[in-house]
Amino acid sequence: MTAQPLVAPVEAVAPHPAVAAVPVAGDEVVVGGVPLTRLAARVGSTPFFAYDRQRISDRVGEVRAAFGDAVRLGYAVKANPMPAVVQHLAGLVDALDVASAREMHTALDTGTTPDRISFAGPGKTPEEIRSAVAAGVLIELESQTEAHRVVAAGEGLGVVPRVAVRVNPDFAVRGSGMRMSGGPQQFGVDAEQVPDLLRYLTATGVDMTGFHVFAGSQNLDAERIADAQRATADLVVTLADHVPGPVRYVNLGGGLGIPYFPKDRPVDLGRVGESLAAVVAERIAPALPDADVHIELGRYLVGEAGYYVTRVIDRKVSRGRTYLVVDGGMHHQLAASGNLGQVIRRNYPVLVGDHMAVRDTEQATVVGCLCTPLDLLADDVPLPRAEPGDLVVVLQAGAYGLTASPTAFLGHPAPAEVLV
Ligand SMILES: *Cc1c(COP(=O)(O)O)cnc(C)c1O
Repeated sequence: MTAQPLVAPVEAVAPHPAVAAVPVAGDEVVVGGVPLTRLAARVGSTPFFAYDRQRISDRVGEVRAAFGDAVRLGYAVKANPMPAVVQHLAGLVDALDVASAREMHTALDTGTTPDRISFAGPGKTPEEIRSAVAAGVLIELESQTEAHRVVAAGEGLGVVPRVAVRVNPDFAVRGSGMRMSGGPQQFGVDAEQVPDLLRYLTATGVDMTGFHVFAGSQNLDAERIADAQRATADLVVTLADHVPGPVRYVNLGGGLGIPYFPKDRPVDLGRVGESLAAVVAERIAPALPDADVHIELGRYLVGEAGYYVTRVIDRKVSRGRTYLVVDGGMHHQLAASGNLGQVIRRNYPVLVGDHMAVRDTEQATVVGCLCTPLDLLADDVPLPRAEPGDLVVVLQAGAYGLTASPTAFLGHPAPAEVLV
């Protein structure tokens, strides 16, 4: 008879892919080659966002290697519109995609020429449209009304507007954290209405370059991304029959996600690249030989390069639960609190950035400094013991962080942002 163990062996927990990717030296997280406590001293105050220039460059390099020369790579500025970040990316990618007049001005300030800037998004005001036409950027039309306004702005300014039609396809993409196509949508022109819109655009003499389909965000499933790209290519080829001249622009969107939660696995970039090459070679190039194929990525290029760095202000134990109260919170990093579109709240990866060599952990709950229970950055997670003064870091903070957060809530000062 063999003795049965009384307790089942605890399954080894694989380290979160985001944690494993963080550069560390000795006890400290290293951002852009600078150890975190030194960087905090250099910034001069906490909390702050730090973005690692090299990690952004490396990520662009990986995407280029996987996607090859067959596609042009765009950066979706709304993911992180910090001017220094946009400037850095402007030198690495082929195009900048903007979603407001302010983002357009940030993009133009980098020296990127207007032929490499596209402007998408619903609800462009007549003033924004006039600015975009005057700047000469590509306007991605989201509705018939926008088309009329673009034509009017072109006539008023005496310029021929450059446009593409953003299409709401008749299919949805599964696996997206945020779905932005299929069924009724505020985004794009329904595929079945596109032929009518193209007749109108042809009659007005605007420069109709092609099509844009953005199906959804935060997708980690390479096969589903590939399915969407195939379906999108087929749709665009069908719609191209209604364009009198050659189609020169096909924007397949992107939506590649990053791992936020313990069970998330990074998207298989090699697989996406292979299938993309096949889509271009077999479906787009034969039918639309003049088309430049674009992929636009936001989160995937910058999300993992960003760190939200906070300082522990208080450590308290309440009825057996240990709380670390930090000087940041949901007013800067709403997504990590679970209040930006999560259905079930799960923890973003967090670290004690100045205790990286400590192996012993305790269970701790990290909360921000706002007077609301919503201000929760990490709920009951294993962390090395942290005291007031230590630096708690929220990872995956490079995209949809500061500019997607309610910064005015409770009136605390804005955090610094640095590109290191
Ligand atoms: C938001 C957006 C993107 C970027 O999405 P990510 O998921 O951050 O890559 C790209 N294109 C359009 C049209 C968008 O609205």
